[in-house]
Amino acid sequence: IEKNPSEPEFHQAVKEVLESLKPVIEANEEEYKKQALLERMVNPERQFKFRIPWVDDNGQVHVNTGYRVQFNGAIGPYKGGLRFHPSVNLGIIKFLGFEQVFKNSLTGLPIGGGKGGADFDPKGKSDREIMAFCQSFMTELCKYIGADTDVPAGDIGVGAREVGYMFGQYKRIRGVFEGVLTGKGLSYGGSLARTEATGYGLLYLTREMLKINGIEIAGKTCAVSGSGNVAIYAIEKATEMGAKCVTCSDSTGWIYDKDGIDLALLKEVKEVKRARLTEYAKARPSAEYHEGKGVWSVKVDIALPCATQNELHIEDAKALVANGVTAVAEGANMPTTLEATKYFQDNKVLFAPGKAANAGGVATSALEMTQNSERLSWTFEEVDAKLQGIMVNITHAMDEAAKRYGEDGNYVLGANIAGFEKVAEAMSFQGIV
Ligand code: NDP
Repeated sequence: IEKNPSEPEFHQAVKEVLESLKPVIEANEEEYKKQALLERMVNPERQFKFRIPWVDDNGQVHVNTGYRVQFNGAIGPYKGGLRFHPSVNLGIIKFLGFEQVFKNSLTGLPIGGGKGGADFDPKGKSDREIMAFCQSFMTELCKYIGADTDVPAGDIGVGAREVGYMFGQYKRIRGVFEGVLTGKGLSYGGSLARTEATGYGLLYLTREMLKINGIEIAGKTCAVSGSGNVAIYAIEKATEMGAKCVTCSDSTGWIYDKDGIDLALLKEVKEVKRARLTEYAKARPSAEYHEGKGVWSVKVDIALPCATQNELHIEDAKALVANGVTAVAEGANMPTTLEATKYFQDNKVLFAPGKAANAGGVATSALEMTQNSERLSWTFEEVDAKLQGIMVNITHAMDEAAKRYGEDGNYVLGANIAGFEKVAEAMSFQGIV
């Protein structure tokens, strides 16, 4: 904290992980100390910060700051998304990169952890401005990445359009057609089911976690926050499983739809028109639109935070528990504050942390890398079946690790331990690097 005082999100993520690793650390104290294993684990292998100049439609030059943090490559090439949002700074990218290390390990696939992005706001920009920014960003980033070294993907503000512009620029400068990014369009190496993967995976894990605890997902009511990539496909899969999602949100307001979110309308508003949720409310008589935050005040069985970090606070946790919530599964990265997480656990709410619950996105990205290496494309059903298998395995890995350390049902501890063990072993085998 003294060395990097302005990185509160990073400290929060490290605190959560190290606290839950206590039993493992105590069991291996001498060895870890001798190897400085934990110090190495919390220090990124390297981090890049760079200038991104670009020109808007009026000829005005703007300058943004870009980042790529290659956190830990012990078990495979660095892998993790790129976020374009005005709130991006080094501390946020470090927190996301640190979480990514354990998440990627949990998938069981050979991928290390990294993250990147820029403090660029894509909202309200023309297509040409987005392209100009993405090309300038990649002109610098392409020096540090490659199909076998570091393979970025999308995150907040980075979808198929941005990945396409960045892939084009990488190919132009480096002169190679390789799987250097995931989340690509289907016509140039993308994987079927990647768009759906994080939201679908969240529901595969939630269903399995409920099943382990003797609960059926069909018939349950869900509150979802966000209305981006993760939220939309979480709502789609939850609805398919027979649950009813009654909320969604964006950064200005939220929807309560007593009849359940109309997915086709939501996709039209968010994916096609790129409009605000007020448009959804205008077209849907059963929906109420509210300014500000409020998704967690609704009475539901399951809460699925799918927007951003620290969006579910202690007051929200109290409201959800008072309304009888059974399970919370994090579609976003670290959406629940430490205090709120503890409150859920103390009140016997099943709580699946993001690094397990939203791992379906990166897992499917790793499947995209495999397809690119093979120069083959699998069917939607093949990818979806693999995704389901991975999410079920993750659920049992976190459940088993929690039981092994006498903390049955503590999935925060279980996910952290299960993710950590493999990385720690690989680091030990590879010597002091
Ligand atoms: P999108 O950009 O597609 O959507 C983000 C959604 O969250 C939007 O509805 C956005 O509203 C809302 N949001 C973003 N920032 C804020 C904020 N500060 N306050 C309130 N609402 C906000 O991103 P994704 O759906 O891809 O990502 C959502 C979360 O899931 C992130 O935490 C991301 O790291 C995580 N994640 C994503 C994966 C993926 O495959 N996409 C994989 C694993 C995790 P608005 O449009 O108004 O900004």
